[in-house]
Amino acid sequence: MVDPKEILKKYWGFSEFKGSQERIINAVLENKDVLSLLPTGGGKSLCFQIPALAKDGICIVVSPLIALIQNQVENLKANGIKAIALTGGIPFDEVNSLLDNCLYGNYKFLYLSPERLQQDIVKERIQQMNVNLIAIDEAHCISQWGNDFRPAYLQCAVLRELSPEAPIIALTATATKKVAEDIKENLQFIEPITVKDSFARDNITFKVLWEEDKLYRLRLLCANAQKSVIVYTRNRRATEELSRFLQKNKNTATFYHSGIPKAEKEKRLNQWLTNEVKVMVSTNAFGMGVDKPDVDLVVHYQIPDSIENYFQEAGRAGRDGTSANAVLITHKADEQQLRNQFLQSLPTVDFLKKLYRTLNNYFQISYGEGNDETFQLHFHQFCEIYKFNGLMAYNGLRCLDQNSVISLSDSFSKKTTVQFIASKEALFSYIETHSSMATAVQTLLRTYGGVFEFETRINPVLIAKKSSIPETEVLRTLEQLHKDEIIKYNGHHNDLEITFLVPREDDRTIHVFAKKVKEQIAIRTNNVESMLSYIQNNNKCRAQQLLHYFGENKKQKCGACDVCNAPKSIDPHMIPLIMEELLVQLKKKAQSSRELIQVLTYKEEAILATLQHLLEEETIQINTRNKYEIS
Ligand code: ADP
Ligand code: MG
Repeated sequence: MVDPKEILKKYWGFSEFKGSQERIINAVLENKDVLSLLPTGGGKSLCFQIPALAKDGICIVVSPLIALIQNQVENLKANGIKAIALTGGIPFDEVNSLLDNCLYGNYKFLYLSPERLQQDIVKERIQQMNVNLIAIDEAHCISQWGNDFRPAYLQCAVLRELSPEAPIIALTATATKKVAEDIKENLQFIEPITVKDSFARDNITFKVLWEEDKLYRLRLLCANAQKSVIVYTRNRRATEELSRFLQKNKNTATFYHSGIPKAEKEKRLNQWLTNEVKVMVSTNAFGMGVDKPDVDLVVHYQIPDSIENYFQEAGRAGRDGTSANAVLITHKADEQQLRNQFLQSLPTVDFLKKLYRTLNNYFQISYGEGNDETFQLHFHQFCEIYKFNGLMAYNGLRCLDQNSVISLSDSFSKKTTVQFIASKEALFSYIETHSSMATAVQTLLRTYGGVFEFETRINPVLIAKKSSIPETEVLRTLEQLHKDEIIKYNGHHNDLEITFLVPREDDRTIHVFAKKVKEQIAIRTNNVESMLSYIQNNNKCRAQQLLHYFGENKKQKCGACDVCNAPKSIDPHMIPLIMEELLVQLKKKAQSSRELIQVLTYKEEAILATLQHLLEEETIQINTRNKYEIS
């Protein structure tokens, strides 16, 4: 066995361990199961990479994202360490030979996505390997109390059976107490050691800014940032709009979301990483595993759906340790929007029952039948006929998919394209005789400039919305135009392919997982409410609030956030309210200012000022024991 510090020096060129790295590494080397809770950027990877290098054998690493896996494997290879990535989409033959390499090729690391653990061939080979350590990265994905729950992660427990001798290390940066307990239980930890470093990020100043004009504030913040910026927003369209807005205002900016083709994503990421572009505007698809040291500003343009997510995203600022800002810009309407998007569209058990029954009726499946049958669903039409809210119905289908009632294919949102082939003159005379189609055609022309010249990708839902015509009507018009050789029309209108996995048993089918659905709703609601109360609480230092959420008690205020830096003058409307509460307290008994500050929820400054005011008007007085009492 080699000294961990030598390995650190030899492969990574670092001379000191960070935080609790050394403690964790030593515990792993003593064959203990370890749960390591280190903040983002805390150096979790080395906590399993170094012990694995110190011992004979191979380390199995489970990680949730292909991008993360590839990034880590490339880094290891660049340091001269043999590592293999077994992600999705690799053909069987290749999987076979990769696994052979692990057995006979002196490889030190095998990285897997959790889904791979369902495959027999993978399990069999792992059983034959000399596994020296099992590492579960981003381990919060195993807990349904966490915000990134991945059911496939529950498979990780199988590794314990396959390699009973190997210790397990689980790593995460986002674990509340509940999640931590869940991780240890699901992985069947034996006498585990939990190592937790403070999540405090003292170089980041957290701020919540209430703005009437959010765009104006965004522009100022971005203009003042010296180095890289990330702006998080919740929907794809907004990433593009905000990026355009910033460009118009003399910033270099680009945008990123999961709907962008892979090559384009890589290009944009690179432009940002190399500082060719300063601002990256993105949905939360961007970031996990992005390790850019010099981000000096992370802006949240909309309220995230949980404090875990917020903290993780904001934590991408200041990884190099220099001072940085994490600013959430909000205004009154945002709260309702968050509730609408995240809570109102969560399918309830009753909704799932209705959706499932409707789906069965739609495809004319009788009770007790339907399993293994596959159907095409025109999703928008389906919603229109049965008056389902689209987002809610889609979430419902996904829920049925997650619970193995149906399987949804990912051919969702194929291309719909249109090109006009008739001349403009021919088109106009056609419209004269088919006046009912005029609105849809005009909207189409107005929305898609190039549709006369090129085959253009269109969104029928958008046309329907803009022209206030039902989508089915728009589609019918397009089909008619196609038949009459006015346009060339390729219609794949957001079809879903659904395979029923179990026989239809109506409510009984849903009851199997109803409890889980209810729990999920409770968790989501709780997450949203915690986030909202963080935003609304302007009495307690932001850093203190955030750390409190993760179970840490931070004594020192940051001294720089919007709460710590609030103007000393107090909102005059507050004084009567504070006065009333103070008097209620003092009627009970005489109390010191410190006691009063503890029981009341207002800011310290406001309470002290109000006490002063009450003293001056002689409503209260100070007694011999230095406590306030009613005069
Ligand atoms: P995490 O997974 O905890 O977010 P990583 O393992 O990706 O963090 O490490 C973050 C960065 O810290 C990496 O660039 C890594 O090289 C660096 N790092 C890790 N350990 C040390 C160390 N002991 N000294 C200096 N840098 C380190
Ligand atoms: Mg990591």
